[in-house]
Amino acid sequence: MRPFVYRIAVKNSLTGYVLNLGDAGVKIVVEGEEEDIKRFMMELKEKKPPLAKFEKIRTKWGKARGEFDTFTIEKSSSDRILESSYIPPDVAICNNCIQDMLNPNDRHYKYAFTCCADCGPRYTSIIGLPYDRELTTMRDFPLCPHCMEEYMNPMDRRYHAQGICCPICGPKLTLHAKNGELIDCNNPIAEAARLINEGAIVAVKGIGGSHLAALTTDDECVLKLRQRKRDRKYKPFAVMSLSLNEVRKYAEVSQKEEEVLTSFRRPIVLLRKKEDFPLSKWISPGLHNIGVMLPYSGLHILLLQEVTDPAVIMTSGNASGKPIAASNEEIITHLSDLADYFLLHNRVIYQRCDDSVVKIVNGKTKLIRRSRGYVPEPIETPIPYRGKGILAVGPELTVTVTVMKGSRCYASQHIGDVSGDLDMMEFHESVTTHLLKLLNVNPEALACDLHPQFMTTKIAEEYAEKWQVPLVRVQHHHAHAAALKAEHKLDEPIVCIACDGVGYGPDGTIWGGEVLLSDYESSERLGHLAPQLMPGGDQATKYPIRMAASILSRVLSDSELRDILTSKYIDGFKYGEKEVEVVLKMIRDAKGPLSTSTGRVLDAIAALLGICMEKTYQGEPAMRLEAAAAKGKPTLKIEPKISRSDGRYVLDTSQILSEVLQALGKHRVEDLAASAQHAIAIGLADIAVNVAQEENVRTVGFTGGVAYNEAITKTIRKHVEKNGLVFIQHSVIPPGDAGVSIGQAIVAACRLLG
Ligand SMILES: [Zn+2]
Ligand SMILES: [Zn+2]
Repeated sequence: MRPFVYRIAVKNSLTGYVLNLGDAGVKIVVEGEEEDIKRFMMELKEKKPPLAKFEKIRTKWGKARGEFDTFTIEKSSSDRILESSYIPPDVAICNNCIQDMLNPNDRHYKYAFTCCADCGPRYTSIIGLPYDRELTTMRDFPLCPHCMEEYMNPMDRRYHAQGICCPICGPKLTLHAKNGELIDCNNPIAEAARLINEGAIVAVKGIGGSHLAALTTDDECVLKLRQRKRDRKYKPFAVMSLSLNEVRKYAEVSQKEEEVLTSFRRPIVLLRKKEDFPLSKWISPGLHNIGVMLPYSGLHILLLQEVTDPAVIMTSGNASGKPIAASNEEIITHLSDLADYFLLHNRVIYQRCDDSVVKIVNGKTKLIRRSRGYVPEPIETPIPYRGKGILAVGPELTVTVTVMKGSRCYASQHIGDVSGDLDMMEFHESVTTHLLKLLNVNPEALACDLHPQFMTTKIAEEYAEKWQVPLVRVQHHHAHAAALKAEHKLDEPIVCIACDGVGYGPDGTIWGGEVLLSDYESSERLGHLAPQLMPGGDQATKYPIRMAASILSRVLSDSELRDILTSKYIDGFKYGEKEVEVVLKMIRDAKGPLSTSTGRVLDAIAALLGICMEKTYQGEPAMRLEAAAAKGKPTLKIEPKISRSDGRYVLDTSQILSEVLQALGKHRVEDLAASAQHAIAIGLADIAVNVAQEENVRTVGFTGGVAYNEAITKTIRKHVEKNGLVFIQHSVIPPGDAGVSIGQAIVAACRLLG
């Protein structure tokens, strides 16, 4: 920030100084002509570096006293401490650097690693603090005299920028064949692009890991990638386009979406596909949206300039269930079954970091994956915690870890599914160790999930034993609710609707459609969806027609159910009528866990409507249901039935499914999808409003993975606000399980504060 102030002050012929005030910002004193000062102030706002934030600008004018000869950057004693404690996120290449890279007269012309003080890799390259080149992976590339000159010159944009480099002194690209052998070529990027244009799949090493790149308009190409990536039968691929104009050829982009797409964080944004969709239907089959990002490094820009398609598939370069491949060795060994060629470079990626994923829901930015570009920026909470620090290890799927230091939560990048794979557990451990080291924290307490069998619970138990510190076990949905409450800096209790696929309840059943009266320290379950049997456990998640059968068994007789399953849904049973009998028996004998999960009910509706009969990736049936509902209207009016049991409100989901079943054929499938979603949303909102009124609470929140569903969120919001209550939702902390570690840390901190 200060070098930037220095440059525009000098440029506008002003004298004076700029001084760091620590957390309170900077103080700038300038002297000069009024016109110059006004221009300076305008440029201060308009040309500010991406990471600089102006919360407030206070201006005081005075008479010039002629006390300065020059403009200077004043040093303060706290500078070093301040600078050394700040760990910046990775920043997408800035416009100035893009111009340098495209200018034939600039020495960075066509150089893929061009960056400056305002942009480039940060978190992924930092080995330790203070943030100096010697403690980043750029230490392998000593500055050439030219770069050194820029580094030393306060009038230069690259002044004191730790990551700068050029074609003389910086990292270099190489192209490799499937067996890892070096391919001799002058321009590896152009050659890689040529291969992509010919239909090859090329693994591309980037900022925080690698991508698999392929054409988007060629079905054969997309299907080849699906075949090779075994866990990707239908799971959507993210794509990258050179510019917004290209994106608009295949997707709708709202003002808000444009803002997020072009921000320095450059996440993947889920956009609505155009009616007339020119890309392969196999990119995000059965879904109404597509994950899109713009290039965030010079390498991406140079590559995309050479590719003929309006977009390139850029899906994470990882083998099934493994972390994203980041080192050259890893990329070649892990991805050799997936890629035909490798475009690599010799800059080490110290912290692997996946692309972030964002969906705009109800006008708010909802983070599905908070990773590159966001991490490790802290999340401010209102908790007056001043202890030595807390480590929260996350749930089981979509795991992140969080370190709480003071009132700030530092959530890690996306780790993923930590349920047993050794590489994933190692990744979890290395992220934890790195974050604790960077923040200089020796935790005085740990937080984990309530589930005794989670791998993360076992990891936390080990740490607690080793470090001899207390372990706080936090119920899954309480963690979601605490995160939401903290994000809104609330002190008073809230009523929280927490809906997702699965979270372990203290009664040993599976929760996931909960209405909680929630405080930071504790929460009380005052409503939920009707508990439903999951016949055969996980099989009912994989084959959602089983879930539908179980839910309907409460309103249909055994023989009615058998008739419907065999006549209409026999395709949903791999082993035909024999399997139907097995499932019916499991239902009669109550074989399987009980669940109040909203995810399972949405899955069941997707199966009942014939939208999705098998889950091939996490959330698929519910996502396909949402896609169908987005094209429909709630034409079938379903009056939700709510009863009381053990002092709690219970929403009857069997009745909702039964009404949908009876309306089959009388309404469009899309309209029935919308109607069912609407009924569940209204039912949950009704319970929440009742609880809020009884408990004298004025705020109702909505969190959990179901909060990514646009229609459900809007319906709940409307209903809550219609009843004179305040509705809150996430825009900083992910509503899904990536936000759980943050909630765990907050609950633990408050219990310690007691
Ligand atoms: Zn730059
Ligand atoms: Zn250089």
